[in-house]
Amino acid sequence: MLTRSAVEAWLAPRADEMAELLTRLIAIDSENPPGRELGRCARAVHEAMDVLGLGPDIVELAPARELEEPSIVRGSVGDGPKLLYFHGHFDVVPAQDRRQFTAERRDGKIIGRGSADMKGGIVSMLYGAAAARDLGLLGDGRIVLHLVCDEETGSVTAAGHLREAKLIDPRALAMVTAEPSGGKIWNSARGALSLRVEVRGLEAHVGQADRGVNAFQHMLHIARPVENYAREMTAKGSRLVVGGLFGGGSNFNVVPGSAFFTVDGRYDPDEDLDRELDHLTAAVKEAAAEIGAKVSIEVTQRQPPAHTDASHSAATALAEVVAEVEGEARFEMCAGILETRWYSQLGIPAFGYGAGRLEVAHGPDEYVDEAAMRRCSAVYALYAGRMFAA
Ligand SMILES: [Zn+2]
Repeated sequence: MLTRSAVEAWLAPRADEMAELLTRLIAIDSENPPGRELGRCARAVHEAMDVLGLGPDIVELAPARELEEPSIVRGSVGDGPKLLYFHGHFDVVPAQDRRQFTAERRDGKIIGRGSADMKGGIVSMLYGAAAARDLGLLGDGRIVLHLVCDEETGSVTAAGHLREAKLIDPRALAMVTAEPSGGKIWNSARGALSLRVEVRGLEAHVGQADRGVNAFQHMLHIARPVENYAREMTAKGSRLVVGGLFGGGSNFNVVPGSAFFTVDGRYDPDEDLDRELDHLTAAVKEAAAEIGAKVSIEVTQRQPPAHTDASHSAATALAEVVAEVEGEARFEMCAGILETRWYSQLGIPAFGYGAGRLEVAHGPDEYVDEAAMRRCSAVYALYAGRMFAA
């Protein structure tokens, strides 16, 4: 079996090439929200994949929200029946400073917006796939790359399309996404449930305030039990924010006729989102009934958690390869939501594994370590070899 050193020998002379590609991708301001320059970024990824012989094509998506030319770049190497997915996203969170779009390469790092999350991850995956092919690791397998454009705002447009259009084959052996796990293996991720609670009252001018129904007062009454529930869930390991957004009213001298607040939750994989929604809805409705308030609840986001058992053969194989390359392998739950869910829902073992570090991912000093980026490429290539040989 091919070892780590052979893959590293393939990658080492390509270090500058990888750094240059990452620099080019960082320079494209694909901030999401709002979803700028997605078409241009897709074309740059397409060009890089073409040069590497990864047979790319661009799937143009129907206009959605404010996304500019939403699209998916796909590619593949190998033509055997065994299938492995490499999945990534080329949108980035908004920059703290415009200078983040000019990458800096120093001290073995590449610094810039998206270096960790996850344009650096994309570079690792492209070179990992190319290495697997050049080194004869594909056997009777095939790596399919899916690079999407709207992960930072829920990924419903692109990853949602992959699933709707049946572009994800449930028979795949596994999926890996290059999210910034810092070399750990994320085999599970939280689910998300977001609500917007609208409270309706009756407007009246301050001079006739007694004729109005104050939606703000009603909102205060309703928000309290929701906040209590949020505390209970937090004690059990989930994370909730009540009132991340709130507002209403039309003027300081008018009894507010409307008010709203949001509830956003990230739930541990063992929590059932349907049950959570029932609990939150009941808390709101009961509190509203106590004071005769009129409320409506809108579910603005609902993403199930994702989980692949660490004892699954696809997980142990990945852990072996990671241990070979990194010296150790550790499974962890990702604190956020991951695109692994689109695959694990279909029964595909799915993992987050990438070179970037989560603690810098969305911040002003985002960077990726170049050696870590190459180690990830090596892991991806060797993982393909291991899965296809099994
Ligand atoms: Zn990401």
